[in-house]
Amino acid sequence: MEERREKPLGENFDFPPSVLDEIQKNIEEIILNFDIPDANKFEVIKKINFMYSQSRYMSVTDPLTGLYNRRHFEDCLEREFLRSKRYKSDLSFAIIDIDFFKKINDTYGHSSGDYVLKEVAYLILQTFRKTDMVFRYGGEEFAVIITETPLDKAVIPLERLRISISENTFKYNGQQINTTISIGVSGVNEDTESVHQLFENADKALYAAKENGRNQTRHL
Ligand code: GH3
Ligand code: MG
Ligand code: MG
Repeated sequence: MEERREKPLGENFDFPPSVLDEIQKNIEEIILNFDIPDANKFEVIKKINFMYSQSRYMSVTDPLTGLYNRRHFEDCLEREFLRSKRYKSDLSFAIIDIDFFKKINDTYGHSSGDYVLKEVAYLILQTFRKTDMVFRYGGEEFAVIITETPLDKAVIPLERLRISISENTFKYNGQQINTTISIGVSGVNEDTESVHQLFENADKALYAAKENGRNQTRHL
């Protein structure tokens, strides 16, 4: 069945990026037709382009970690799921949650907590390929879309990440902080009917990892 976007223009002005690009181009053309000196026109166009790329960057980025944010996550996961179904390519998806993170804030302070979040984000980013996508999904939760990779292969970098975080000591303001992560991972197969199911499978696996003592990678 052909998958089509149902509502290209949402109620909250969430234009697809391609439409925004078109609007930006039209603005450029309007300015070029203004009856003002060329140098001024180019200055205005430069400013508009700068503002445009800034707001586009901000709309998909988490300010603390620099990772993609949750808003962007929703779009990407759906797109990659549809791609994987249509082209029968492998796709895995992981949710990573820092264990007892509240305790880090309570013991070392909120700015130490922020520091650990940034470092964990960096370690996650370093672990995966440029073709994978890493998001800050919630406070101390991250999501990774692992493209062209079946579940059994996705577990390999995830386990490497989990072990390296458990062995790492985060140093901040003279404090030495140790932490661990729990990971739930799922993969697309013939039985995966929806993107929702792909997400739920990883979420359930994460819950099982927490229930079973944390600091582990699980799948259903
Ligand atoms: P669990 O092992 O079950 O995941 O326990 P947890 O303590 O990690 O989970 P819980 O959901 O109880 O606590 C998450 C904490 O994350 C609580 C919240 O204060 C903290 N948090 C969320 N966002 C931020 C942030 O941006 N900075 C800091 N420093 N802390 C944050
Ligand atoms: Mg959590
Ligand atoms: Mg947690």
